[in-house]
Amino acid sequence: MNVILLGPPGAGKGTQAAQLRRRWPLPHISTGAMLREAIRSGTPLGREVKQVIEGGGLIDDEVMTRLVTDRLSQRDAAAGFWLDGYPRTIPQAQCLDQFMQGRQPLVVVDIALSDAEVLHRLASRLVCEECGTNAQDTGADPRCHNCGGRLVPRVDDADTIVRNRLEVYRRQTAPLIEYYAGRPTFHQVNGAQLPDDVTLEIIRAIEATRSS
Ligand SMILES: [Zn+2]
Repeated sequence: MNVILLGPPGAGKGTQAAQLRRRWPLPHISTGAMLREAIRSGTPLGREVKQVIEGGGLIDDEVMTRLVTDRLSQRDAAAGFWLDGYPRTIPQAQCLDQFMQGRQPLVVVDIALSDAEVLHRLASRLVCEECGTNAQDTGADPRCHNCGGRLVPRVDDADTIVRNRLEVYRRQTAPLIEYYAGRPTFHQVNGAQLPDDVTLEIIRAIEATRSS
């Protein structure tokens, strides 16, 4: 089962992937994590990525596609995957379609969330100083539920950065949603519900696809 998770920053794609893996234990392939890992590993591709990012540039479609298809070709992804962060552009989506030929169809889940909700969520997002776990600001004594560490605002959640990320996301993703929307395997779920309810809605959508 090959699933793409779309959704704006703050929609909880990482959280959902973790929950969904309990139901379908396929690898969670996150491009953010992969880029960090590529840089750490120091491979030729990793060095290329590092140079681009340090120069303030964006990873182009070709490099991104190489990274992702390399990862999807690994044995553990043969039975399927949860893909998060790719594709981001139409050319990437076309490359992925090409790569997927002869495999099971792509299931596309868009976790929909309004701009207002994204800004509200990201403004109140905290991160543990010790272990990096994300948390929402509930106003009470902010301690990490994982390790008890101090929770502080996420640096990349500063207001202008959030607005920029969101704008880039909308600009890139609106055409992508159009690209996939006509497929019977495309699903849009309401991301403004409680995380457990979002998970249930996604599971129901995927099961409807699989039984049809
Ligand atoms: Zn912690």
